Amino acid sequence: MIIVMKPDATPAQVEHVIEKIKELGLKPNVSKGVERTVIGVIGVDDRARVEPLEVYPGVDSVTPIGRSYKLVSRRFHPDNSVILVGPNTAVGGEKIVVMAGPCSVESREQLKAVGDAVKKAGAAFLRGGAFKPRTSPYSFQGLGEEGLKYLREQGDACGLPVVTEVMDTRQVELVVQYADMLQVGARNMQNFDLLREVGQAKKPILLKRGLSSTIEELLLSAEYIASKGNMKIVLCERGIRTFETATRNTMDLSAIPVLKVETHLPVIADPSHGTGSWTYVLPMARAAVAAGADGIMIEVHHAPETAKSDGPQSLKPAKFEMLMKEIRAVAEAIGRSV
Ligand code: PEP
Ligand code: MN
Repeated sequence: MIIVMKPDATPAQVEHVIEKIKELGLKPNVSKGVERTVIGVIGVDDRARVEPLEVYPGVDSVTPIGRSYKLVSRRFHPDNSVILVGPNTAVGGEKIVVMAGPCSVESREQLKAVGDAVKKAGAAFLRGGAFKPRTSPYSFQGLGEEGLKYLREQGDACGLPVVTEVMDTRQVELVVQYADMLQVGARNMQNFDLLREVGQAKKPILLKRGLSSTIEELLLSAEYIASKGNMKIVLCERGIRTFETATRNTMDLSAIPVLKVETHLPVIADPSHGTGSWTYVLPMARAAVAAGADGIMIEVHHAPETAKSDGPQSLKPAKFEMLMKEIRAVAEAIGRSV
């Protein structure tokens, strides 16, 4: 249920409603918007108990949320959420953020070469996997904690927040110590135990859409994280499985505007995994920005032919620089910046 307070409701009236909800044994989730305060009440059989609150002073309306996801729904929180990552990087504001770096952290030298290059070109985040979800158990699985150390080192050296994947509940405690943002990858989007675990972490989460997941399923996975108390979530469209084989995945561009309507959470897009080929990364990055993405994630490698993972979809630094220039122009055309 959603209780929308009147624009002129006093703090005391809001507090009165909150107290009443607690008395009913329910949990209020308060969202203070620019214009009004909205209080979400989430429970299985809350309707009969909450509806009478409509007559309370300061209450405008009491309505069912009407969606399977609630805390992440824009109905609960009408304004865009802006998520702060690291000391001063905002995701979801007017500025479009670019997260860039190699698919896998391979060595200190590799990460320095790529990290310095993406920073110079204007990236806002350094990305890199230390725990890699590989289709084959014989493929490179990532450097683990050693990779996290290089990532932290390079992030600090070039002044960028770092985002990296956590694959297992048992890794969360470790990854939290090194990363500014935890990535839950496509293959783990419905690992509900992991979602609950990162929901208790004190770091923002980048949640990628599952390979065969609907938009509603993505939002319900975000709801798992939010329901554990962590509202700092950024969603990522990274391509889905379809009958098409010309690209590695089919990048679902329409998911971007759909998500922007359905949720207040920031939405980014990953054209590297979305297409699987460096040739298509630049046009799809431009398209994602035009479609309203709050950011993009791009795989960059100084020597893609030697990359331990995802070389074919990695941009060389010079191409990445060109991408930054081009998306800047697109962003400006829609009243945003990069
Ligand atoms: C990645 O970002 O390197 C990655 C493995 O992404 P995804 O989970 O989208 O495949
Ligand atoms: Mn990758």
